[in-house]
Amino acid sequence: MTSTVQGYANDSATAPLKPYRFERRDPLPHDVQLDILYCGVCHSDLHTAKNEWKNTVYPFVPGHEIVGRVTKVGSAVKAFKAGDLVAVGCMVDSCRECPSCKEHLEQYCDQMPTFTYNSSDKHSGKMTYGGYSTHIVVDENYVLRVPKEYKEEDLPGVAPLLCAGITMYSPLRHWKIGKGSKVGVVGLGGLGHMAIKIAHALGAHVVLFTTSPGKTADAKKLGAKDVVISKNPEEMKKHLKSFDFIIDTVSADHNLDNYTELLKRDGVLCLIGVPEHQHPSPNIGNLIFGRRSIAGSIIGGIKETQEMLDFCAKHKLKAEIEMIPIQKINEAYERMLKSDVKYRFVIDIASLRK
Ligand code: NAP
Ligand code: ZN
Ligand code: ZN
Repeated sequence: MTSTVQGYANDSATAPLKPYRFERRDPLPHDVQLDILYCGVCHSDLHTAKNEWKNTVYPFVPGHEIVGRVTKVGSAVKAFKAGDLVAVGCMVDSCRECPSCKEHLEQYCDQMPTFTYNSSDKHSGKMTYGGYSTHIVVDENYVLRVPKEYKEEDLPGVAPLLCAGITMYSPLRHWKIGKGSKVGVVGLGGLGHMAIKIAHALGAHVVLFTTSPGKTADAKKLGAKDVVISKNPEEMKKHLKSFDFIIDTVSADHNLDNYTELLKRDGVLCLIGVPEHQHPSPNIGNLIFGRRSIAGSIIGGIKETQEMLDFCAKHKLKAEIEMIPIQKINEAYERMLKSDVKYRFVIDIASLRK
């Protein structure tokens, strides 16, 4: 049995998103069905809609920063009930058997996790469809709980934590960022602004690298001690050999050497952005002289995502958002491409029910 969902999809790399109806399964014993209230707009939605990673299957329904209310649960579900406020992030399943799954690192599943969109669905055999839609059905093991500290009016700002928040929290924790760490954040967009907030809450000294001078005052309000205009070599040189960790959230290819030379000995440049085209090959000298590393990280595991939500609730953190009706999504993508977002678009899914 299935139910009909109203969503938004596009049907080719050059086509805009438009209304699209499709079916979702009725809850199986371990499933949770939720009405989606808000869905954040991640740059990965845009990369995928435009087939920049060359793996998009159309029609494509984006959205993996989902907050909603449970409407139905399967017969075996004990942890959730109708009426609960819950959230769904970038994954809806994984193999559950490989070493990464067993260590609560489902994002590194050997079989690849089932992503919330553009992934092969174990149940239907078709592709998964994301949160630009009125409701979704997800296995209970991949559903998060919205901490009770958040009020109804906070929920739009909670949605982006499900990708932007966890994608920053996981590497900051893995590389043990805390008091005494000097952390660089490259790019002030959806991910970058959460990196500043979370690194600051962890006690680090945070410096933003931006191409947008107009974002300086905001970055300081978010918790950055210093802001560097990355196009200015003189400003960059002031920070040579001084960072423990730099997290690079830029959505376009760029020269990494400008950042590796800012690392201390043993420092790490962690790549998060997934641009359409590869970065130029990095300078080896910058790495061997100083034993510096270039690393990467993808989202976070389900257990860690709950830990991140609880951490953000405790520290009163949520995203800075601009709410849009779904009808403005194509305009929002245009603005995201111009780095003109402060600092995350969130779709009010009520606009899809009208
Ligand atoms: P976003 O909101 O568009 O922010 C990207 C920021 O990068 C922009 O605000 C801009 O910051 C900077 N930027 C853009 N174009 C640039 C250019 N040509 N040169 C230098 N800087 C530029 O995007 P997002 O949603 O935060 O996502 C960022 C990237 O992370 C995307 O590639 C996305 O797919 C990827 N991502 C990865 C993961 C993961 O798990 N690894 C998870 C989510 C997203 P300034 O104006 O401050 O320069
Ligand atoms: Zn995302
Ligand atoms: Zn696995």
